[in-house]
Amino acid sequence: MIDPELLATLCCPACRAPLTPKGPDRLLCGGPGCGLLYRIEDEIPILLVEEAIAPEDRPRGLDS
Ligand SMILES: [Zn+2]
Repeated sequence: MIDPELLATLCCPACRAPLTPKGPDRLLCGGPGCGLLYRIEDEIPILLVEEAIAPEDRPRGLDS
């Protein structure tokens, strides 16, 4: 899991909204109309818009 102190310093690079953990290796943007999902690889969040998964691109079930 990601360090809560690190998480508190992170925000979505697309809209600057705070990120919330989604499972063990994902971070979800809480920004209205954004909702990008970022991967965490080797405990490093990949906060790149071009690497993020948009809500409409996500397979069903990944959100739950
Ligand atoms: Zn966002």
